[in-house]
Amino acid sequence: MSAQANITEIFPSFQGEGPYVGIPQLFIRFGGCHLRCAYCDEPQSLIKQSSCKIFNSIDGSTFDLRSNPFTIPELTSWVEGIYEKFPSHQSVSLTGGEPLLHSSFLREWLPQIHGRFQIYLETSGTQPERLAPILFWMNTIAMDIKLSSVGGESPFWEEQEAFLKIAQDKDLFVKVVCGAETSIEELERACQMVKKVNPKIPFVLQPVTPFGTVTHAPTSDQLEHWQKLCQNYLSRVLIQPQAHKILGIK
Ligand code: SF4
Repeated sequence: MSAQANITEIFPSFQGEGPYVGIPQLFIRFGGCHLRCAYCDEPQSLIKQSSCKIFNSIDGSTFDLRSNPFTIPELTSWVEGIYEKFPSHQSVSLTGGEPLLHSSFLREWLPQIHGRFQIYLETSGTQPERLAPILFWMNTIAMDIKLSSVGGESPFWEEQEAFLKIAQDKDLFVKVVCGAETSIEELERACQMVKKVNPKIPFVLQPVTPFGTVTHAPTSDQLEHWQKLCQNYLSRVLIQPQAHKILGIK
């Protein structure tokens, strides 16, 4: 059987997180995730969906519905169709859910769009074995470090360190969602892990946008304190909120 993928949304927008805030991207949101972060704002992507919304406007007001799954030629055709309408969106963001759960599909699909699009991966970094086979095709990798004091998930220190080692020669940064309850010990543990691989990897402190059971964002004093703390370990520590949430776009 040819490779197929479950996709919940395809849409043009602007990157809203991390050092590349503002670049125009085509987002492909894959269905399914093995984690259940308390602050997850994409609950519809935690499990595979029977249909996919394909948006044809930046404001997210109009979309086509298409049934899942997608074959490789079908996905290529949809992406190229949206790109024709939004030619400045030359970067494709693989997001989710957890896009690496579809690494077999990506291994076949990415070579087919290589050279036409920049590939930007958003991942939890908890499955390093799924990154290795598709690493060649990645331009930028954004890895989330999940702190149990915020998201409630158990830590994945070993897996994420292994992931960073595999990804370190790519354009790579890590992002840590911080809430009012963020544990300093956990944050230091995250810094130590990144420093062990490479202290120059950019480290983004992202104040949580309250969602679900996570109701409190950190204060500015907390963020300032945490940034100084992290700078004891790492050379580039940024505080960046979710710009797309502030702007009210997808
Ligand atoms: S890893 Fe991402 S998609 Fe999965 S539960 Fe956490 S926030 Fe949601």
